[in-house]
Amino acid sequence: MRLFGYTFGLMRNAAEFHFYLLRRVRAARLACAVAAMLVPAFALLWGTALLAQAQGKTNTLRIYSIDVEGGQATLMVSPTGASMLVDTGWPENNGRDADRIVAAMKDAGVTKLDKVLITHFHVDHVGGVPNLVQRVKVGEFLDHGVNREDSDITRHDYAAYIKAIGSTPRRTVHPGDTIDIPGLSVIVLAADGEHIAAVPGVKPEPNPWCGSEPKWELDQTENPRSAGILVRYGKFRFLDMGDLTKAKEIPLVCPDNLIGHVDLYLVNHHGFNLSNTRAFVDAIHPRVAIMNNGAHKAGSPEAWQTVHESPGLEDLWMLHTAEDSDAAHNSPDALIANLKGGSDGAYLKVVAHANGSFSVMSSRTKMTKEYAAK
Ligand SMILES: [Zn+2]
Repeated sequence: MRLFGYTFGLMRNAAEFHFYLLRRVRAARLACAVAAMLVPAFALLWGTALLAQAQGKTNTLRIYSIDVEGGQATLMVSPTGASMLVDTGWPENNGRDADRIVAAMKDAGVTKLDKVLITHFHVDHVGGVPNLVQRVKVGEFLDHGVNREDSDITRHDYAAYIKAIGSTPRRTVHPGDTIDIPGLSVIVLAADGEHIAAVPGVKPEPNPWCGSEPKWELDQTENPRSAGILVRYGKFRFLDMGDLTKAKEIPLVCPDNLIGHVDLYLVNHHGFNLSNTRAFVDAIHPRVAIMNNGAHKAGSPEAWQTVHESPGLEDLWMLHTAEDSDAAHNSPDALIANLKGGSDGAYLKVVAHANGSFSVMSSRTKMTKEYAAK
């Protein structure tokens, strides 16, 4: 009204005021007509967005690092609502780990798993399969092939896996294979002790940290056989190499770094110091790392320090306080999903955008930290 009064004060005669009013009326009619067209369009868009949300579709990649007490269970849900779980945690405990996976799926709005990748056949990764398949339909299991470890416990866990998956399709993955998740690019970097020669879209660069790296002995377990993947969504990159150990980390980054930089690094082998060479961690140059340690498993001071000191690292999140470590080798409480003496089962949820920006949320504190696109 103040603007109208001011305008009116400037009118030089009645005719001018008459035309002024006519213009106002026409403008108002035009605005009504435009609104009449736009309202149904907005309603349609809003309805489509709600439907997409109900079907698990978003314009984001969501990654849940689920607390399976020192094992791995990492749920990814693509922008189209397609899902992949990497590893299934432990067996028994009344299906505790499968229940935690189902809880993360519920948060993500998915009711089945399109793919389940088993990185290797250790019990903290494959052990949860029998409980999981009782609760959730799985489209396809992927793994590195047969068990290679000469131990009764791993033979037993491998047999339990084969029995549990029954007639569900199963595929052996090899380095260089892609995993078809609509909306994402997922490529296998390593499997069964072999590694990829070059990653499409990544220019190998000489790695200055190779020279100071000792020669590491290869362990004869399933760990160095881990199937590891690089997940890309637009500019965002996530690396999950399972429990790959030092001797098999090196060929991926020395003499040339084949992986390039990543935004999010799931710390190899829960943060054991059998993994996480400086040459590997520094080369991949993560912005944010998540350590899926247990209260009394992994999260070793040496590995924590290597990741923490990595150039460009902004935050090291942890699934648990490493209770056998000291305060100097634990992250601040806000970055730890499950604190010493607190309840278990809280997860970390990453929401990534195609422009490379992402956030990490702790289900314990509900705190979300944003990481802007670079
Ligand atoms: Zn493990």
